[in-house]
Amino acid sequence: MAAQVSYSSTRGQSPELSFDDVLLTGLAPDGGLYAPDHWPTLSKAELKSLAGQPYQVIARAVISPFLDDTVSDAELGEMIDAAYGRFAHPAVAPVLQTGPADFMMELHHGPTLAFKDVAMQLLGHLFAARLKARGRQMTIVAATSGDTGGAAIDAMANRPGVNICVLHPNGRISEVQRRFMTTVEADNVLNIAVEGNFDDCQALVKAMFADVDFRDAVSLGAVNSINWARIVAQIVYYVSTSLTLSRDGEPVHFCVPTGNFGDIFAGFVAKQMGAPVGHLVVATNENDILNRAMRQGAYKPDGVIATQSPSMDIQVSSNFERLLYIACGRDAELVRELMGSLKEGGFVLPQNLRAAIAPDFSSYRASEEATAAKIAQIWRETGQLIDPHTAVGLVAADGARANGLKGTLVTLSTAHAAKFPDAVESATGVRPDLPARCRDLYARDEVMTVLPNDYAAVTDYIRKAFEN
Ligand SMILES: *Cc1c(COP(=O)(O)O)cnc(C)c1O
Repeated sequence: MAAQVSYSSTRGQSPELSFDDVLLTGLAPDGGLYAPDHWPTLSKAELKSLAGQPYQVIARAVISPFLDDTVSDAELGEMIDAAYGRFAHPAVAPVLQTGPADFMMELHHGPTLAFKDVAMQLLGHLFAARLKARGRQMTIVAATSGDTGGAAIDAMANRPGVNICVLHPNGRISEVQRRFMTTVEADNVLNIAVEGNFDDCQALVKAMFADVDFRDAVSLGAVNSINWARIVAQIVYYVSTSLTLSRDGEPVHFCVPTGNFGDIFAGFVAKQMGAPVGHLVVATNENDILNRAMRQGAYKPDGVIATQSPSMDIQVSSNFERLLYIACGRDAELVRELMGSLKEGGFVLPQNLRAAIAPDFSSYRASEEATAAKIAQIWRETGQLIDPHTAVGLVAADGARANGLKGTLVTLSTAHAAKFPDAVESATGVRPDLPARCRDLYARDEVMTVLPNDYAAVTDYIRKAFEN
């Protein structure tokens, strides 16, 4: 039996925790992110026996080494079966061949049509089980600019012990995104449309976490992408697909549309666990802080630009901190110093960190024009409609090929075209249909409350709904 994984903050000033506490804590009190103290590995024999197995079987093998003994293997298996039983495709993350050595992995077969469902569906079960075991109640509050809110509401609706409140910027998300949040009928769901932008929503949530009185009154919790359990659930599809496509252990490359660096970091972890993962290609839209960091070594946030791929409209890429922490040999003091300088406009990556990152990663940026042109090209050539986030990935994959990347390359398709119908229609002239399972989305009644961008107004409203 390998040593149980324990978790430390990337900033080194919080106590070490077990998985169970990391799940329910989210962000470390010192402002850092929790990261495992070592990588559990899958032996050659284990990997060989997992190749070609159903997604659920691979999920058990990949996820269980990160957990502690508070969740038994049998319990984990039941959660995985329930979570992925809600996916519309039996393969969960099916792979489509798009060229001689090019593939697309479809991660949008979950209930809200984006890859956030893969992690969030499992999180719903983990939260409910662990809160019940501890006899606790929790109110999860999240700010969303797009897909996280819908995935979280679907995963948490009607779960005992959990309340979920999502703040979105009023009038600034797509109608499909909004309806996935506002049409869920459940007593434990609260939708607040804030009269402001996404940054205002996020600032409100941050202020709630800093407000001890409010935090205790509602037992505040978080499921944003810094939650380690979400990363763990995402490792699975890199393991399953690399095992499916690798011949004789040859590495499989992945190209990942990236915002908060959570998804691509999961690919990096799959590689550390021993899966045949090769190069990881970062694909950004015009909000390209990661592309600049990878190429020029400067991690400097700019203003956020609104693009066709709004789920990647991000300037501070939270999970990049986890990569820095690993790349510098878990030197929390250095990470603390680098992240501290974000307030003064950013930092330059030390040369040894750049050298440590370079062998695993490369990076490309897709302009708005190139993204739209890619959606149109795929439609023309194959008759398939792809979403703008996926298109950003395919533009980056072209860049990697043009730069000489050889071997099998898998681009992640992170959302269904119907989730971003305006962008797809403007590129192709065709409006994508919702899949049959959610075709009634426009007919369902919406429930949400519009509130001013005012801390007292928002927190009073949440207290009235959910105070213990
Ligand atoms: C969240 C999201 C991304 C970016 O994922 P990160 O883990 O934040 O890098 C890409 N595409 C879609 C559709 C998303 O919802």
